[in-house]
Amino acid sequence: MSTAIVWFRRDLRLADNPALHHALKHHAQVLPVYVHAPDEDAPWSPGGAARWWLHHSLAALQLQLRRAGAPLILRRGPSLQALRDLAGAVDAGAVYWNRLYEPAALARDRQVEQALREAGLEVEHFGSALLVEPGQLRTRAGAPFRVFTPFWRAAATLLPAREPLPEPARLAATPRPPAGLDLKALDLLPRIRWDHGIQQAWQPGAEGAAALLHRYCAEAAGRYGEQRDLPGVDGTSRLSPHLHFGEISPLQIMQRLRRLSDEEPRAGLLPHVEHYLRELGWREFAHHLLHHYPDTPQQPLDAKFARFPWRKPRDYAADLRAWQRGRTGVPIVDAGMRQLWRSGWMHNRVRMLVASFLTKNLLIPWQEGAAWFWDTLVDADLANNTLGWQWSAGCGADAAPYFRIFNPLLQGARFDPHGDYVRRWVEELAQVPDAALHVSSNGAVADGYCAPLVDLAASRRRALAAWGDIG
Ligand SMILES: Cc1cc2nc3c(=O)[nH]c(=O)nc-3n(C[C@H](O)[C@H](O)[C@H](O)COP(=O)(O)OP(=O)(O)OC[C@H]3O[C@@H](n4cnc5c(N)ncnc54)[C@H](O)[C@@H]3O)c2cc1C
Repeated sequence: MSTAIVWFRRDLRLADNPALHHALKHHAQVLPVYVHAPDEDAPWSPGGAARWWLHHSLAALQLQLRRAGAPLILRRGPSLQALRDLAGAVDAGAVYWNRLYEPAALARDRQVEQALREAGLEVEHFGSALLVEPGQLRTRAGAPFRVFTPFWRAAATLLPAREPLPEPARLAATPRPPAGLDLKALDLLPRIRWDHGIQQAWQPGAEGAAALLHRYCAEAAGRYGEQRDLPGVDGTSRLSPHLHFGEISPLQIMQRLRRLSDEEPRAGLLPHVEHYLRELGWREFAHHLLHHYPDTPQQPLDAKFARFPWRKPRDYAADLRAWQRGRTGVPIVDAGMRQLWRSGWMHNRVRMLVASFLTKNLLIPWQEGAAWFWDTLVDADLANNTLGWQWSAGCGADAAPYFRIFNPLLQGARFDPHGDYVRRWVEELAQVPDAALHVSSNGAVADGYCAPLVDLAASRRRALAAWGDIG
């Protein structure tokens, strides 16, 4: 009887899982495996919030697999060693997986593939985390796209038309599966339990993803275009961590939304669906950029920013800490940073504002912000985080020009006019009337709230002067 190993990584679902589907179609038995090897992702091993998510996502996958008749075997890395041992133990003839796109994972996977092939195993890998494989698209001149709109226009011609693969009802497992580790042994949960708020906010796993997609379709999909920028409203899908861990595929989301707008053409859903798909397009663009510019998690894409006169760590350490703790004295910035700390997530509009404030008003390098997000976001994703930070700092592809500096007070008044968002996360401001909320003098009027860390107008002038220096 032929046996295939299905190597789960960040594709922690059974439905629309091409590697699993292929194994079930071509082999009598499957052995689902997860290998924990965080050093193989270095220097971008998962941060604290992502490890929390991974623990619960693996627990959810174990349950799903058990219901379908197979255990999930957990092992520690090195990945190659673990896969070789398991293949030997069950006499597997093949190893299948779905592709990842981070530079470290790609290098590891190439090595694993070659070594397993040399050992006589069949190896195949599949695309399922993205709609279009990175590297497929180039401009007419043959260069990588660096502007989103033409990228997305070109990508639209390659979007898959197929339906997602069904979830298998039963898995024929190997009769005597080899021993695996207990999930707790992976030590993913924090020792000091800071995860109460995160636990309240999320349900990791494919069921949690399906529930959010269902809620989004029922309550928010018809107003996405109008509401996606309002942090006080539940107007977006919040599917980012589920997409990052592959508990749902972008294809599943796209086809579900397309069906919804076909079924209800009169409800005017189409423009909102198209808008949502464009946001998934930014995710595709981020992976395309990481593929072509693998140094960008550390290096600015726009080379002249390597000369940018950022402040030095000894000068900015206290300001960085205040930003991280949500104590800058700018209400919407503090609300965002506290939402991040307590729930592991932040609204996109507010991510842009806190990033602009850090890099422009505080003149702190974007890499510091990216590192903090990496550790605290449940959806921390190398491609998306890099794009978001470089875009906000003005040094990335299709970036907001550096000289366009958000005024976080005006932005707060525009996108959170009644203070629903700020009041929810900054308790000290709960009693401040709407009209007095998005101002810089709250430290004086609201008990316990801090004075502004910087003068917005003066820090803006300082940022523009610094930008002028790099020509
Ligand atoms: C400084 C900064 C850092 C960011 N870091 C991350 C990160 O680490 N991980 C991450 O997933 N997103 C990141 N983003 C992008 C964006 O903020 C989140 O994807 C979005 O807020 C997730 O919420 P949602 O699922 O409700 O989004 P929705 O509005 O429901 O959008 C649907 C999906 O589209 C994708 N998407 C939406 N906006 C973007 C975008 N601007 N760039 C790339 N993909 C997008 C996400 O996968 C998202 O789940 C960052 C943005 C900024 C400005």
